[in-house]
Amino acid sequence: MDNKTVSPEDRAHGLMERKPPAKESPKDGVLLGEGYLTVPVRLFAEEKPQQEEGSAMNQKPKTAEILCVGTELLMGNTVNTNAAFLARGLAEAGLNLYHQTVVGDNPERLREAVELALSRADVLITTGGLGPTYDDLTKETVARTLGRELVPHEESQRWVEEYFRRRGRIPCPNNQKQCMMPEGATVFPNHNGTAPGCLIYGAGKWEGKQAVLLPGPPNECEPMFWEQVLPLLRGGSRLVSRCLHFYGIGESDLAQKLDRLMRESRNPTVAPYCKPGEVMLRLTARVGEGESADALLDPVVEEIRREAGQYLYGVNVGNLQTALVHALLAKGLHIATAESCTGGLVAQRITSVPGASGAFEWGAVTYSCETKRKVLGVTQKTLDKFGAVSVQTAMAMARGARRKSGADVAISVTGNAGPEPSEGKPVGLVFIGVDSDAMTSVREVRIPPTENRGREFIRELAASHALHEALEAVKRTVK
Ligand code: AMP
Ligand code: MG
Repeated sequence: MDNKTVSPEDRAHGLMERKPPAKESPKDGVLLGEGYLTVPVRLFAEEKPQQEEGSAMNQKPKTAEILCVGTELLMGNTVNTNAAFLARGLAEAGLNLYHQTVVGDNPERLREAVELALSRADVLITTGGLGPTYDDLTKETVARTLGRELVPHEESQRWVEEYFRRRGRIPCPNNQKQCMMPEGATVFPNHNGTAPGCLIYGAGKWEGKQAVLLPGPPNECEPMFWEQVLPLLRGGSRLVSRCLHFYGIGESDLAQKLDRLMRESRNPTVAPYCKPGEVMLRLTARVGEGESADALLDPVVEEIRREAGQYLYGVNVGNLQTALVHALLAKGLHIATAESCTGGLVAQRITSVPGASGAFEWGAVTYSCETKRKVLGVTQKTLDKFGAVSVQTAMAMARGARRKSGADVAISVTGNAGPEPSEGKPVGLVFIGVDSDAMTSVREVRIPPTENRGREFIRELAASHALHEALEAVKRTVK
């Protein structure tokens, strides 16, 4: 028997980088046009070929494929979280991932899936089906497909016995199944369960191919992957991504501004993604050993800043509310919200960010005119003369919220989310007020409703606008 055992190594670092501060602020008076109020659409489905020259490119990246085994995944009873973290880890290790598959606990379909994966990828990664029961078939099926016999693995035997001894239990006879390993495999001890994982090297028809078998339970699978598998897979290069977040520009306008860059850039590649009201550009660089990711990414980020910097609200910031909370925390500022048509959505999104307690002071849902008067001090005269949905009311709400809370920045939202016009104001008309030392303003936003973009869409987008306005105010505040 010539199985090899790998000792654990340090967990790989994540991909997040610290965000540089945005240098420019968005244009004033950006109104929502129909053009960019779209549901998330991926503009380009085709992947651009990676550059084949240069130090990082001399070595052709390996391709990997993920195969998650388990009928519970197919039935939707268990969410396939293993595939998500594996995909992130493989990108970090510099492998190209083109397919993910889920297959049930069925030997025939499992064999077909394994053969298909091995026919198009260098490395197959499976999760699940390594347990002791009769429906755990992955190791047997993959080993047979790759032309490898299962042989007893003494170390696995010891690990399993030790695992049970420490818990004051004795192994069942079917735990023996977990101590059989494909000949020649590299075996990964399981520090959180009984099923060891392994790396099988293909033989015969599958010479040169590899299969990594990991247990299904995420608390066993994930540490085994990061600590033991990733160091083996890490090739001469890795992929590093940076996400640029834009607000106030539609995807097609942004794509047009950056047309040449998006077409021609190979390393990093530049791909747009959008969600309502927002566009994100993901820059992905393939970085060779000893090479700096920043050296590849910074010049492209700078070029994008030159072309569309006024719409860029953050780099690697996740979303508007996270950017806002981080900006508030960085300046030691507190925010208050006074919401009408959004009914607390702005406060909800701010407080969903970990650490928001250090930045969120006060929030009020002042839906009725009476509450606007009582809680925020909006005058009856303002409400009578201009209406609840008006520049003046939005202003008075923001001022009232700031006065009442003592916060550094207060944001207000009042609008008509529909479905019917009110006070003679159209559906989708929203006013966002800001009161802070740096700026006191009201922005008018028009979100035209369509058949599939109704009340909820208007409310969500109004909340996004409010978060963006607040972010602007915080960026301008000197403290
Ligand atoms: P198995 O190793 O196939 O017996 O899987 C054991 C348990 O791990 C299952 O009951 C699921 O709860 C969990 N599991 C299996 N595969 C996955 C997966 N791809 N993502 C998340 N959990 C999983
Ligand atoms: Mg299973």
